[in-house]
Amino acid sequence: MTKSSDLAVQPPFCKTDVSGSTVSLDEIQTAIMQGKICPYCKGKTQYVDSAVIYGKSYGMIYLCKPCDAYCGVHKGTDNALGRLANKELRYWKKEAHKYFDVIWKEGHEKRGEVYKHLANHLKLPVEYCHIGMFSVETCKKVVDWSKMILNDLRRLDMDFGVDVKRPHYERQ
Ligand SMILES: [Zn+2]
Repeated sequence: MTKSSDLAVQPPFCKTDVSGSTVSLDEIQTAIMQGKICPYCKGKTQYVDSAVIYGKSYGMIYLCKPCDAYCGVHKGTDNALGRLANKELRYWKKEAHKYFDVIWKEGHEKRGEVYKHLANHLKLPVEYCHIGMFSVETCKKVVDWSKMILNDLRRLDMDFGVDVKRPHYERQ
């Protein structure tokens, strides 16, 4: 039987989220993914209106005030969009979406299909392949992978004489 004291000695989630294809989450990691526990201090989060952050309400959020970390919820539910994110992670999540979303928004493939390719690239089970679940390091990988895909698509379009509005992206 697992004691709660055993769970407390598990490594922090950020070290295990891309460790390979045999990812399974323990009780604390699951609570982190549900926005119930702060991934930084491991404290219990607050479920509050986003007005406390933005000065205007955009719905509810899970918040850890001491860590300046928060996360929104799926519309009409109290289900967190992912783990809480601090300022640095919020920046990298935005960057990841900025490039990744273009791939499916341009209609090259359906969103779910693009996520499958990404999961394959990151060697993650597809059910754990959501930008909202990722660490800074993984978000950076998403940015780089998306740039590679977009550059390939651009070259392909140009070969076929399509006028491509997007620039060629430099990768790290
Ligand atoms: Zn915290």
